[in-house]
Amino acid sequence: TYAAAHSANFRDFLLRSELLRAIEDCGFESASEVQVQALPQAVLGTDVLVQAKSGMGKTAVFVLAVLQQLEPERTEGEVSAVVLAHTRELAYQIRHEFARFSKYMPAVRCAVFYGGEPIKQQLQLLETAVPHVVVATPGRLVDLTVTRKVLDLSKVKFFVIDECDKVLEVLDMRGDVQQIFKATPKNKQVMMFSATMPTEMRDVARKFLHNPHEIFIDDESKLTLHGLLQYYVKLEETDKNAKLNDLLDALEFNQLVIFVRSVQRAKYLNQMLRESNFPSITIHSAMPQEERIKRYRAFKDFEARILVSTDLFGRGVDVERVNVVINYDMPANSDQYLHRVGRAGRFGTKGLAISFVATADDHEVLEAVQSRFAVHIAELPDSIDPSSY
Ligand code: ADP
Ligand code: MG
Repeated sequence: TYAAAHSANFRDFLLRSELLRAIEDCGFESASEVQVQALPQAVLGTDVLVQAKSGMGKTAVFVLAVLQQLEPERTEGEVSAVVLAHTRELAYQIRHEFARFSKYMPAVRCAVFYGGEPIKQQLQLLETAVPHVVVATPGRLVDLTVTRKVLDLSKVKFFVIDECDKVLEVLDMRGDVQQIFKATPKNKQVMMFSATMPTEMRDVARKFLHNPHEIFIDDESKLTLHGLLQYYVKLEETDKNAKLNDLLDALEFNQLVIFVRSVQRAKYLNQMLRESNFPSITIHSAMPQEERIKRYRAFKDFEARILVSTDLFGRGVDVERVNVVINYDMPANSDQYLHRVGRAGRFGTKGLAISFVATADDHEVLEAVQSRFAVHIAELPDSIDPSSY
């Protein structure tokens, strides 16, 4: 299937089958941008420092990285992973995520410890079964490990701090983290996550990390290229119209946007399409503002199904019914590509983007897009299953 060639697919991370099944049960169709960028490194045991907006799916990165590498049978009776969170609610939620993803790994034991709960029950639990994964707030974990010495962290292999800016910003809590950190072996994987990361916090975080892979996803990157089918067509400039005609006949589209590089080309192409009876309109930067808006609204209202546009329309094509974008002219850089075809939706929004590659420069942009967004863009096949976009 086409999805298999797509790096947003969880299957591409070479996870154990127990995890893939659990991911499927969770209904995750494709990986989010932060997952695509962080997981391949994290599952190999590399330290990571990850900053990405809330809601982008950071939890799954460390939960999957830990569960992938955990050897529950061989490490029976040892704490292998410590996950710190700044609030009880978050600790509880993370524990829940571990349970969800380890559904098919019955040997894995995970426990959560936070203040405010009677410590007696927690002590009893530790006497009967030592968990592989400990999720905790720092204060309570210091109590159990350093003060009471009922929890041995000398076999820890994975050390995670979620919302690390919050955990490290309060000096009390930072002190607790340092004590816990010291109780763990030197040689371990450290992973830190946060929605925000002021520069000074970054430096504090780096003190805990060893050669980390650092990922900072800024606001703009909530536009994502995942969940989108992307292809290129290599052709000569003079063959573009014929190819476009073929595609418009062959593709099943709701609404479609064609991007060109100049006003002249937009006018010309739109006229040509209308003469061939395609329901097309154009919006370009040489138009008065009211006219642009009028046409934009008309397109949104489904009065035309094809829009020929220069880049002014590029930023986040937010017409829900557009399911196909054609770069008749390749954009000048990867930013422009993202803005033309990127989707604001987070997970698994479908769509199809086809780029005409006519020159060496076009080819360079195509390469840049693939490496920057960690996506694979293949040559357009003879036919595409319409249900895949
Ligand atoms: P963050 O920690 O970045 O704020 P979370 O890990 O809490 O984000 O994830 C936010 C929500 O998105 C959760 O409900 C989670 O189950 C869901 N989620 C995470 N990754 C995916 C995915 N790949 N596909 C669908 N939903 C996802
Ligand atoms: Mg989170």
